[in-house]
Amino acid sequence: YLGELSGQTTHKINQTVAYMQEIIQRVGSNVVLLDEQEDEALVENYLNNMSASSYFQWVSHVNEDNLLQMETGELVDVSGLEVVEHAWHGAAGVSRDQVTIFNGKPGILYAAPMIKDGRIDSVVLGFVPEEQLMSLIDADSFNGISFTYVINGDGDYILHTNNSGAVLNRENFFQDMEELVHTKERDALDVMKRNMTNGERGNLYFQVNGKEDRFMYYMPLGVEDWYVISVIPPQAYAEEIVKYSIFALCISMGIIAIFFLLLIFIFRSTDKQKKEMETIAYVDPVTYGYTALRFEKELKEKMLEQLPVSFVSLDIRRFKLINDSFSSVEGDRVLRHTYRMILENLRPGEFVARIDGDSFNIVMNSTSQVEITARLNKITEEVNSFNKEIDGLYYLPIDCGVYLISDRTEDIYMIRDRANTARKNNKDIGDRSICSCIFYSDMERLQMLKEKEMENSMERALENREFVTYLQPKIGLRDNRIISAEALVRWDSPEKGMIFPDEFIPFFEKNGFITKVDLYVFEDVCKLIRKWMDHGIEPLPISVNLSRSHLRRPGFLKNYKEVQERYGIPPQLLEIELTETVVFENLEFLKQVIDDIHQMGFQCSMDDFGSGYSSLNVLKEVPVDILKLDRAFFTRENDKRGNVVVESVIELAKKLHMVTVAEGVETIPQVEFLKHADCDMVQGYVFSRPVSVEQFEELAGMK
Ligand code: C2E
Ligand code: CA
Ligand code: CA
Repeated sequence: YLGELSGQTTHKINQTVAYMQEIIQRVGSNVVLLDEQEDEALVENYLNNMSASSYFQWVSHVNEDNLLQMETGELVDVSGLEVVEHAWHGAAGVSRDQVTIFNGKPGILYAAPMIKDGRIDSVVLGFVPEEQLMSLIDADSFNGISFTYVINGDGDYILHTNNSGAVLNRENFFQDMEELVHTKERDALDVMKRNMTNGERGNLYFQVNGKEDRFMYYMPLGVEDWYVISVIPPQAYAEEIVKYSIFALCISMGIIAIFFLLLIFIFRSTDKQKKEMETIAYVDPVTYGYTALRFEKELKEKMLEQLPVSFVSLDIRRFKLINDSFSSVEGDRVLRHTYRMILENLRPGEFVARIDGDSFNIVMNSTSQVEITARLNKITEEVNSFNKEIDGLYYLPIDCGVYLISDRTEDIYMIRDRANTARKNNKDIGDRSICSCIFYSDMERLQMLKEKEMENSMERALENREFVTYLQPKIGLRDNRIISAEALVRWDSPEKGMIFPDEFIPFFEKNGFITKVDLYVFEDVCKLIRKWMDHGIEPLPISVNLSRSHLRRPGFLKNYKEVQERYGIPPQLLEIELTETVVFENLEFLKQVIDDIHQMGFQCSMDDFGSGYSSLNVLKEVPVDILKLDRAFFTRENDKRGNVVVESVIELAKKLHMVTVAEGVETIPQVEFLKHADCDMVQGYVFSRPVSVEQFEELAGMK
């Protein structure tokens, strides 16, 4: 506050002094011009006019002898005055102290040189009395609460406040201070003096006579070494301070308010953004219900609160058909409809989400299998209720798998996986009802049931020729022609449709029935080659798979030999595939088997090479004719390291005089790579899936 006060005063004084200096300089040059008129009276007149003006009390000039011509006609010697001396040296200026001239009052003297014909002819002086200067500082006394002084570097008062309460009212500022102020503040006074010699501003707190408080601010003026000093008693400025503070407070509050508004705005807009993001992440665009992400979040929370609950994986059977035969718009409608029906049947705390495609996940609080089955049946019924009004029946059968969550540490993906596994099992048990519902906990029982069923039907199936041999071509890379085939079995069940080997072979290996199937396939293959030969068709060699179950029975190969001879097939057209895993069981025995196979004139191949663990050892020990590289080598695209391994294995096989077959190849670039690596044959979807004999004959150009 005082700083501001002093600043205003300083500015005013500086301006005034600069202005007066300019005027006195102008007076100087005007006097020189008038002088040229050679008319003394003219100059006198001008100077008198200037004196009568409000600027100076009097204006006059000093001659070469430093004598000042007064109005009264007297001559005053001003030779000792610094300001006059400076003017004689060409510099206009103002007196550093107050000056008293010729019994007059004290005041400030302005001086400027008068230059005539390029040299200083005389000096012009203007005088401003103290009272006139006082108006400069008194106007800024702020209702009389402050005391303003102007001092020079020595502490001499240039201007002295008129305020009657002023405590500093003697000869010299520093003397006054030293006498008045508490000894404790002497240090502060020394600091002030030092600051003043450096032209720096500052403030000072002191007590007058050890009881009255004063606050002082000092600030340099642009004039000489003058300083403006503002002093205020605290009680006097308290009121001003309060006003000032209120003003500052209002400004601060305003800024804070704006800041808060801004903050709210930012918060609102990020909140909106967050909500939008959440919408994207949490709202399914098809059903407008939960997404998988939202579902998982809810489930995690639920698992912490309430267990056990049931997790249902629900799927619309053959939904793809709807999408394909109608449109995806229609498909989406079906999904939305299904979602709505599920939702309508949920109880508080239960939730549903479409996970992807036509698969839904539901969490139900019920744990009773009877109850859940009933509820899912009801949902299915309601999903299909739209059919009532439609003539052409169009059912939406639903498959469900249910997993009971009882442990909160269980992983959501594991849970979903188990429910999915349960759901997919309905195919195996041949459930064709409109709503199939399988509980994971029943799976073992179901698996047993399934196996029992297979056990009961397998013998009859063999008799009824339900096992069908499919052929997958092997293409020679030298000329891109079918040069061989692998026989792969399918079970074409009149009740269950086409069953793939993965579903029954593991079980048949367990109960030993596979040996019968294998021999059956072998005979089928012999029959086929016989047929080709009888029809004058150049026969192609065919490989068959030999399960390791055979190895348990010594002399099993005799059966193979018997069949081959019965059909009169050149044995080199028959190839027997052995899997690498057999090796673990008994290497010596395996070598014996391979020997026997060779004795009988059959070819022998190592199947699934590279899927096991001791592959290179196998290469060393087992003298097979053909090496079939497992499809695991070709599942990754642009697998640089994998390619290096494949190249090396092929090279190694070549050195051991083995023919190489790459299995499970699905892309043309892989074929190109294999050609480059000098692989002999490719067997994979890229050329053909396993096909029926008829289709094979067509592919091979036999028809
Ligand atoms: P495997 O002997 O390794 O037969 C190759 C399997 O890979 C076949 O499956 C074939 O369809 C599949 N495959 C061929 N090319 C590709 C491809 O490019 N991509 C993919 N993803 N797969 C391809 P399949 O016919 O389902 O046979 C599965 C397994 O069942 C066979 O594997 C074999 O171990 C066993 N198997 C099949 N028939 C018989 C049989 O008569 N006797 C015995 N003991 N096992 C058999
Ligand atoms: Ca095979
Ligand atoms: Ca294989």
